[in-house]
Amino acid sequence: MWRALFVSLSRNRTMKERVMRWGFVWQAASRFVAGETLEDGLRAIRELEALGIRGILDHLGENVESPADAVRATEDYLLALDRLAALGLRPHLAVKLTHLGLDIGEEFCEGNLQRVIERAAQVGTVVEIDMESSAYTERTLRLYRRLAPRYPNTRVAIQAYLYRSREDVERLIEEGIARIRLCKGAYQEPPHIAYPRKRDVDASYVQLMERLLSAEARARGAYVAIATHDERIIQHALRRIAEWEVPRDAFEFQMLYGIRRDLQVSLARQGYTVRVYVPYGTEWYPYFMRRLGERPANVWFVVRNLLRA
Ligand SMILES: Cc1cc2nc3c(=O)[nH]c(=O)nc-3n(C[C@H](O)[C@H](O)[C@H](O)COP(=O)(O)OP(=O)(O)OC[C@H]3O[C@@H](n4cnc5c(N)ncnc54)[C@H](O)[C@@H]3O)c2cc1C
Repeated sequence: MWRALFVSLSRNRTMKERVMRWGFVWQAASRFVAGETLEDGLRAIRELEALGIRGILDHLGENVESPADAVRATEDYLLALDRLAALGLRPHLAVKLTHLGLDIGEEFCEGNLQRVIERAAQVGTVVEIDMESSAYTERTLRLYRRLAPRYPNTRVAIQAYLYRSREDVERLIEEGIARIRLCKGAYQEPPHIAYPRKRDVDASYVQLMERLLSAEARARGAYVAIATHDERIIQHALRRIAEWEVPRDAFEFQMLYGIRRDLQVSLARQGYTVRVYVPYGTEWYPYFMRRLGERPANVWFVVRNLLRA
C-alpha cells in the first residue's frame, strides 16, 4: 500500500513539478542525494573515500522520451568519466537503461550504453546497470548479456523480489557473466510477478546470495555485491563467508548514500569492501519518492523539514 502510493507518485508529472519547487522537500531529499551537480557527487565520493568506502556515481535520470535527451545523458556520463580520470578517482558508474533511451529503442540504447562502457574501460572503472521495473527486466538482461562477455567492466542488478530472478541468476552463472548487484527491489510489482510478502522477499534474497557465494558459482566467475541495509541478512552473509571461506575478491557490500552510515563505516573498518551508491543531479524526484516508499518513517523526516521551514 505504502510503497504503491510512493511508486505511483514517483511517476506523476504534475506532482513532480509541484513538489520539486518546495524547498523543504529538497532539504529532506538531500539526505539521500549528494546534490544537483557532478561536483556535488564527487565531493560525496571523496568524503566516503576518506572513510575507506568506495563509491558508485549515479547521474539521476530515467525514462527519457526523446533521442536527444538520451544522447545528452550519454554525453554527461562520458564527461563525468573524463572528469574522474582527470582527478584520479575511480568510482563505479550506475546507469539506468531508460536514461540512455531504452524506451526509444533497444539498439539505440545499446549504442549509448556501449559508448559509456568503453570509456569506463579506458578510464579503468566499471559500469553497473541498475534494474528498473519488471517492464524492463527482459530487455535489460538481454542488453547485459550481449555486452557483458566482451566487457568485463560491467555488472547488472538483480531484484530478489522477482520470481524470475532465480532462473536469471542460474543462467548468468552458467554463462560465466554473473557479476551481480543483488538488491531486494524498489518498484511496485503485481503478485504474479514478485513476492508480495517481505518475508518471502528476504528468503529469496538469502537464497540467491548463498547461490552466488557458493564455490560452484565462484568457479564460474560469479561476483556478488550484497546491496542491502538489512542487518540480519548482512550478518547471515558474514557467517556464510566465514564458513565457506569465500575470498574477499568474490563479494562486496553496497548501500545507498544517506542510509545506515554507521553500518557502512563499521563494515569498512572490518576490512570488507563497501561501496556506496551516490546519486546526484536535478532529476532527484522519482529516486526520492522510492526512498520514501521504502520506509514510512522517512515521511516524518519530510514533515519535520516542513515544520522547520
Ligand atoms: C547499492 C544499492 C543499489 C540498488 N539498486 C537497485 C536497483 O538497481 N533496482 C532496484 O529495484 N532497487 C535497487 N536498490 C534498492 C533496493 O531494492 C531496496 O529497495 C532498498 O535497498 C531497501 O531494501 P533493504 O535491502 O535495505 O531492506 P529493507 O528490509 O527494506 O530495510 C532494511 C533496513 O534498512 C534501512 N532502510 C532501508 N531503506 C531505507 C530508506 N529508504 N530510508 C532509511 N532507511 C532505510 C532500515 O533501517 C531498514 O530497517 C538498491 C539498493 C542498494 C543498497
